[in-house]
This record gives sequence, structure tokens and C-alpha cells, in this order.
Amino acid sequence: MIEFLQNIASDVADLLMPRLCPVCGTVLSPHERDLCTKCLAELPRTQLHLRHNNVMEQLFAGKTPIERATGYFWYERDNRYSQILQSIKYRNRPMMGMRLAERFAREINADGFFSGIDALIPIPLHSSKLAKRGYNQSEYIAKGMARATGLPAINAVAAAQPHSTQTRKGIYARYLNTRGIFSLPNSEELEGKHVLVVDDVVTTGATLLSCAEMLHREVGDIKISLATLAVARLE
Ligand SMILES: [Zn+2]
Repeated sequence: MIEFLQNIASDVADLLMPRLCPVCGTVLSPHERDLCTKCLAELPRTQLHLRHNNVMEQLFAGKTPIERATGYFWYERDNRYSQILQSIKYRNRPMMGMRLAERFAREINADGFFSGIDALIPIPLHSSKLAKRGYNQSEYIAKGMARATGLPAINAVAAAQPHSTQTRKGIYARYLNTRGIFSLPNSEELEGKHVLVVDDVVTTGATLLSCAEMLHREVGDIKISLATLAVARLE
């Protein structure tokens, strides 16, 4: 019920606020939903799902078994497209995340990316962060993918500790910082499944790695793939 109200609140906010493209700032026309036509066409799509052993998969190579990994668009901090993530995470626009994820999933589903996948699992947000933000953006992204594919989105993973802010930490420190932050309350429901773990952005891969390691530890027979809306280009 709360979620239903949040969706309505978000839709109402969409109607009341001037509808601007978060990327270029132009006013959206009635048929444009989240991004203007030009920015959507020029979205720097990674197309990583078409490449075997792609740069996102390489983040996990030799660390934990991953079937495949992809993300919708490249994320660069100073690039105007980074504003999409800012809106989804910090400007109360989770529905935008859901709709973009739905579009993303339709695009990669056409190439067979979801073949064999049984369920979508969003990276959880610790309850203290959830209370502050009011929503988990990854949950909305998973829901958008569920809409496009008909696959179930399951909140199977729990966040045991809050993530601390990671932006100033090195890669190894980030990894240590994310170890043990996830738990799986009911491991049986994932037994024998191929799950797609979903997050808003992948940077070093520390968060997704921590989650994937935990899933491999807790579930005897599981296949794991990964999908994010954005993939950071590491300098
Ligand atoms: Zn635009």
C-alpha cells in the first residue's frame, strides 16, 4: 500500500513539476516521458550484452563466477548523462529508473539476454538509508525489467549493515567495506536458479561482488548474472 501511494506521489510530482529532460534541460513535449527524443537517441548505450568477456564481466573475473553482465549506458561523472542517475537516486524520481530499466530490458531481451534467467534480484538498501530516501532505486529498476520480461522481481537479499559513503575510498578499501553487508534470509527459494542481480550503477563492482559472493556461499546451486542501468568508465 505504501509503495502504491509512493508511485502515485511520484506520478503526481511528474505532473506538477515542469517536465524537463534531466540530461539537456529542455522542456519535454507531451509524448516524451523521461528523456527528450534527442538525448534518448544519443544515450551512450554500452551494448555490453553483445560482447563476451566484456569490461563489466572482467571486473569479476577470477573473483566469483558470473554468467554474464551488462549495463544500459556509460556513466562518467562530468557527463550530462550522469544526471539521470542523480535524478533517480537523489531527486525522488524512482519511476524514471523504472521506465528506463523497462526500455533497457526490452532492448537487450530482443538479443536474448534474459534467456535462462529465472528471477530479478535488486541490491537492497539498508533500512536506515531506505527510511531517509523513501525508496530503493534498484528495486524500481528491477520492477521495470520485470515489466518488460515477465520475470519475477524478488527482494531476496537483505542488507545487514549500512554502506558507508565510498566515493573517496580505494578499490580494495571499498571491497572490504562491502564484505558481509548482505544476507539471504531464505536461501531455498534460489536453489537451482539463475538470478539476475540488479543495481543502479557499477563502478568498481565491489557491491555486486559482495552480493554475488554471498549468494554463491549461501546457495549450493545458483547461477548469477548482473545488470545495471549505468556502467562507470573508470579513469
Ligand atoms: Zn534532452
